[in-house]
Amino acid sequence: MFLKFIPVFIMTLVMQVGLQAKPTIEVQVQNVPLDVNAKPAKPQEAIEQTLSMIKPDAVQTNHIGDIISRFEQSGLRIAGIKMVKLTKDQASKFYAVHKDRPFYNELVNFMISGPVVVMVLEGNNAIAKNRQMMGSYDPEQAEEDTIRADFAESKTRNAIHGSDSPAAAKDEIAFFFKSDEIMKRF
Ligand code: ATP
Ligand code: MG
Repeated sequence: MFLKFIPVFIMTLVMQVGLQAKPTIEVQVQNVPLDVNAKPAKPQEAIEQTLSMIKPDAVQTNHIGDIISRFEQSGLRIAGIKMVKLTKDQASKFYAVHKDRPFYNELVNFMISGPVVVMVLEGNNAIAKNRQMMGSYDPEQAEEDTIRADFAESKTRNAIHGSDSPAAAKDEIAFFFKSDEIMKRF
């Protein structure tokens, strides 16, 4: 009777030894958050907004369309636009950073001499791209095919203004536009 259970006992023993003999695999899970919505990496893109102003000389010589079409052809989009005539107070504040420079009065008087067109330009790296398209403030130094090379007359009458940093872009956009006057284009 007892002998009948010996094979069962041996089998159980063999199975247990077999299970214990299995190699253990240690899996280390690192604590990296998993972004389930992650998209494949793309080249770096930074959609920015910047302020551009077509100055009184270029408005007067009728180059508004020429300048705007350059921006559009470059891939920048106009997110806000208006024509305004600056008051002396506005022009003085807008260029206040230059208030101690010898050209300040001439600059302010020029800026109020006729209407200007202010625009919010939107696009990839818009701030640097706009500055590159403008060229140097001095038309004699401005790189070929830039707006100032083609439309500026002098250091003062130099066709266009553009924000020169993200902080300036934010302040200058707010100087001219309420948030509901700007349409996101991207
Ligand atoms: P903007 O601010 O109008 O986009 P910018 O950033 O290229 O031009 P700034 O140094 O900020 O150049 O000068 C502001 C403006 O002041 C110039 O665009 C120009 O009209 C005028 N300006 C600057 N330097 C001189 C100068 N030496 N003589 C006369 N005008 C000048
Ligand atoms: Mg400047």
